[in-house]
Amino acid sequence: MKTIKLVAVFAALLLSAPLLASNDAEAAGGGVVQEGWSPTKPYPSQEVYYPGTEELGEEEIRVIACGSGMPMPRTKQAAACFLIELGNGEKFIFDLGTGSFTTLYALGIPLDYMTKIFITHQHADHMGDLPTMWIYGMQNGRSKPLEVWGPGGGGMPENWGMKSAVDGILKFYNWMLETSKGALDTRSLSVQVNEFDWSKENNVIYDENGVVIRTIPAIHLEGSVSLILEWKGMKIAFSGDTLANQWWIKEAKGADLAIHECFLPNEDFVTRYKFQPAEAIYVSTLVHTTAPVFGKIMALTEPRRAVAYHFQNDPDTLPDVVTAVRETYDGPVDFAVDGMVWNITKDDIRTRVAMLNSQPFPPPSVTPRQQAAPGGEKYETPDWIMQGYAWETLEVMDEVHENFNKKFDTDFKFPLRPKE
Ligand SMILES: [Zn+2]
Ligand SMILES: [Zn+2]
Repeated sequence: MKTIKLVAVFAALLLSAPLLASNDAEAAGGGVVQEGWSPTKPYPSQEVYYPGTEELGEEEIRVIACGSGMPMPRTKQAAACFLIELGNGEKFIFDLGTGSFTTLYALGIPLDYMTKIFITHQHADHMGDLPTMWIYGMQNGRSKPLEVWGPGGGGMPENWGMKSAVDGILKFYNWMLETSKGALDTRSLSVQVNEFDWSKENNVIYDENGVVIRTIPAIHLEGSVSLILEWKGMKIAFSGDTLANQWWIKEAKGADLAIHECFLPNEDFVTRYKFQPAEAIYVSTLVHTTAPVFGKIMALTEPRRAVAYHFQNDPDTLPDVVTAVRETYDGPVDFAVDGMVWNITKDDIRTRVAMLNSQPFPPPSVTPRQQAAPGGEKYETPDWIMQGYAWETLEVMDEVHENFNKKFDTDFKFPLRPKE
């Protein structure tokens, strides 16, 4: 069965290629001369997105998939995370799943520009990198608190809400915080939590600078939402995790970009995940949206562009997903991989994949650093452990300081000396 589907997809690709080529050539009168291409100058157009090289138009939205996969983060696919950049300078992170911070970091964006994080629900594959984002932002140039919007209330116990989760993160890293006092930019230490009632329909949770972000309930256990961002007459809808539901069909209708979960066909949960059939059918039909249902949802949503995410997008899985989706939906759809980028304006939606920097250095601070809060205490390592220093290396250490001072015209001295 699988082989037949694969053959069909490849055959379709092979057939379409010569057709396109001959149509293009015909339209151009048999030959095209492309202006602006040179062996030494930048090319006039890029089919790859190189982060940080393109100005965003005043009425343009750029969305980047920083996590498109399943809960277990893979080298090629982190868990759920989409960065939304607006032409007014605002940036929003929709979910921050396990492994996704690495992709955000690869974009080279100063961390002061990425402080607004919206969490659809508290599964680790949707917020697992929140601690990483918070802690490394402190050390790498973020000068303000992270702001986190996340679900709570709606009949759930209080300690199931976002506030409680963030308190837990602060406790988890208590040692790191205490021993960093005086060395970190203290403005970045706190996390501002905006907990919202997940059960409300069209709950506006952000309304600034012409940007409105609202939530609708999602059917995914309880305490889950989908997010809808509207700006300049454009609409981005993000499902998080959900079954097909009436709120999505109504509110995401006609979205410019409709990003929705799309699980691998059921049989893969038996053959690849080694699930029992009962588990496979439960997880992919009562907790998540399976591929054929994704297609039907998009047929009802009628977005300008649909995006399927939350599955292992591999050469040997994609044909089955495409086939399943195409049973019910024939509109425009992209099957997300990490780094997939959408540039959206009223006239155009352009899909590309970003060239991610696999060896970035931290982006620079964009505000002057402030090492310690006024009057704040400074942590000191206990003297006895410092006295365990290997004094045989003291001479080398003094030399290291001398060389540094020469290079940077400073006057630092290694402060440790053996006690008499
Ligand atoms: Zn989930
Ligand atoms: Zn998920």
